[in-house]
Amino acid sequence: MKSNRIENVVIVGGGTAGWITAAVLSRLLAKTINITLVESDAIGTVGVGEATIPAILTLNKALGIDQLDFMSKTQATIKLGIEFENWRALGHRYMHAFGNLGRDYPFCGFEQLWLRGLQEGCSTDFWDYSLNYQAAKEGKFALLDSIPKTDMQGLVYAFHFDAGLYANYLRDLSLGMGVTRIEGKIESVIQDDSTGFIKQLRLGNGQQIDGDFYVDCSGFRGLLIDQTLGIGYEDWSHWLPNDSALAVQCGAALPVRPFTQSIAHSAGWRWRIPLPHRTGNGVVYSSSFMEQEAAMDVLLSGLDAEKIGDPRPIKFTTGKRKQPWHKNCVAIGLSSGFLEPLESTSIHMIQTAAIRLLKMFPILGLTVPRWLNIMRKQMTKLIT
Ligand SMILES: Cc1cc2nc3c(=O)[nH]c(=O)nc-3n(C[C@H](O)[C@H](O)[C@H](O)COP(=O)(O)OP(=O)(O)OC[C@H]3O[C@@H](n4cnc5c(N)ncnc54)[C@H](O)[C@@H]3O)c2cc1C
Repeated sequence: MKSNRIENVVIVGGGTAGWITAAVLSRLLAKTINITLVESDAIGTVGVGEATIPAILTLNKALGIDQLDFMSKTQATIKLGIEFENWRALGHRYMHAFGNLGRDYPFCGFEQLWLRGLQEGCSTDFWDYSLNYQAAKEGKFALLDSIPKTDMQGLVYAFHFDAGLYANYLRDLSLGMGVTRIEGKIESVIQDDSTGFIKQLRLGNGQQIDGDFYVDCSGFRGLLIDQTLGIGYEDWSHWLPNDSALAVQCGAALPVRPFTQSIAHSAGWRWRIPLPHRTGNGVVYSSSFMEQEAAMDVLLSGLDAEKIGDPRPIKFTTGKRKQPWHKNCVAIGLSSGFLEPLESTSIHMIQTAAIRLLKMFPILGLTVPRWLNIMRKQMTKLIT
């Protein structure tokens, strides 16, 4: 680092967090900084995280991603919402469909009209007024920004995709934008004696990687933020006692449902994420209330088709790092915290963290004058 300028950014981890961060930073900063990502094939990734929320479209747009190319290369399906089953009572279903409901009356929200309708005896089910819900129920989808001849919102969607293919997709995109990828296991992290800042990573094969700024995307272990810098973890398991999951894929269930399923059981819940080539399944449970063997039964008895491979156990503690940014290191992804993915929001949190980091990046100060200049010229051109 010369004169406090950040020139070399090193991202540790090549899961969804690492590659989203690499793609976001390289898209806007590749000409001004060097970005290196280190990942270990031997350690691998968590391998889950396949359901998203609509904000992913904004990320794809910002990254200049072509939607059809993205969908075919990540085996994506459309997601219109999440269906919660057996939560209120056995057999009860509720769908959190994306998008607006009904149409507001001038100065009066739709929900107020609907409540008044209930009193008058003329309202039907709330979800009758959700286009997303109706389409999801019928298994239908179209690219529809608004309902024709109205000012009402059309279908609002997100994606389910194959987590491994998604990381590969972002990796190829990032490499194309100048990111350097290094494969190998980091064996030690060297800190500056006087400041405690991270100075260098040393791999098992002896390779040394120097950086000015580090992004810890190493997953639950928090290799830099916790194992090196010693930032503790705020445990939220007294609020969210689930601490274990088993994940397995099975054959595809056709036709593909355009929504995620979240089905409650006696000590947690299970998910079903439909893809064209397979379905992702998992059971989330609290080990204080359920043995792994019983969780396995819940998982396997709920599969739509033959399982592919053996179920993989995942242990976690819900909560967050006490401080996600310390010295010259910021944690993004599972290294920064985890909430069980009931509403599929982890990837979204990675997206917002990567964008926040970009916004705070000191180099942006250099691009502002250039950007303002371009804007000014465009305005002048339009007016004259
Ligand atoms: C059960 C479960 C279900 C989930 N479902 C969803 C969902 O539906 N939707 C959603 O948005 N999110 C979901 N998530 C969260 C989502 O999976 C993660 O947010 C996402 O995958 C990001 O993971 P990550 O990149 O932080 O970590 P990881 O995928 O674990 O990646 C860590 C990376 O660090 C590397 N690494 C670690 N140590 C070293 C080392 N010493 N040397 C070199 N490299 C190293 C690894 O090789 C790997 O590349 C779920 C999580 C769990 C646990």
